[in-house]
Amino acid sequence: MTAFPPLSGQPPEIQVSFEFFPPKTPEMETQLWHAIERLKPLKPRFVSVTYGAGGSTRERTHATLVRIRRETDLEPAAHLTCVEASRAEVDDIARRYWQAGIRHIVALRGDATAQPYRPHPEGYAYAADLVQGLRRIADFEISVAAYPETHPEAPSPQADLDNLKCKIDAGARRAITQYFFEPAVYFRFIERVRAAGITVPIVPGILPVTNYRQLLKFSALCGATVPPRLAYLFEGLDHDPETRKLVSATVAAEQCQALMAAGVKEFHFYTLNRADLAYAICHILGLRPAPETVGAERRAGRMETS
Ligand code: FAD
Repeated sequence: MTAFPPLSGQPPEIQVSFEFFPPKTPEMETQLWHAIERLKPLKPRFVSVTYGAGGSTRERTHATLVRIRRETDLEPAAHLTCVEASRAEVDDIARRYWQAGIRHIVALRGDATAQPYRPHPEGYAYAADLVQGLRRIADFEISVAAYPETHPEAPSPQADLDNLKCKIDAGARRAITQYFFEPAVYFRFIERVRAAGITVPIVPGILPVTNYRQLLKFSALCGATVPPRLAYLFEGLDHDPETRKLVSATVAAEQCQALMAAGVKEFHFYTLNRADLAYAICHILGLRPAPETVGAERRAGRMETS
């Protein structure tokens, strides 16, 4: 049994952040902005926007972040990868972010289009090098990625942990994890992280499952274990999106509850540009809209369901 919060008394104090991807079409842009409006009253610590492989979404990521900065009071965080780019190009993008008032970067290596990975001859080879480079450009707040089940290209779990330490020592202030499903995976990882002398927050990345088949494919690539229990829970729901959504919220909320029972107070949600699941999960966890935004939140809720 997982421990749910008490039905009376103070709700637990949790902090959340939400991750979005830059929209490709006007329709996707409308969907993204409905999601942002809906989630905004939950006062996330930051909202981040991903950066496509090899800079493929460079302009769209930039435009999305600038609009968030300009039109909301949310703190935008720009994902930035260094794969297949020179240091000069990456530095230039970072400078543009700073000039646009974006102060938080999620610094990543990214995935190469051709395997095996080879650093760009004039580029930052790994995320740790990128963190160092960013520190030279401006006083960014920097987050990095962490892998509770080890990055698939790492020579060993210990080498991957050493790499995380390098990223933190280079100046990253927090790590956000790859998604995982079993809380025990996160707890074991945290034990190793703390034993390695890493003290920064390691924020669990939570992926509410929207498409089980895609999840299997993606997890095989990124090395995340999908427990057999999930196959059973999503069985027969391929053509039943409503039930799938309810199951998905339940699974993710239980996962978060188990983490909270062990003292975790911060979560990063991979929203896939949809607010409904993340909002419902946050509600179950006890997170409520800030009082002054309740009216706006209701309007945004109506917009999304209309
Ligand atoms: P690194 O920390 O550089 O590590 C990559 C691999 O190299 C690891 O196996 C590491 O152990 C190894 N390594 C590190 N240093 C060395 C060295 N000196 N010698 C040999 N091996 C070394 N991808 C995108 O394209 N866009 C995004 O917006 C994006 N956002 C993400 C957000 C989060 C929270 C997470 C968890 C991942 C995200 N990714 C994104 C995916 C990420 O780019 C890939 O997982 C990528 O393969 C690794 O990036 P990294 O920053 O973890 O790399």
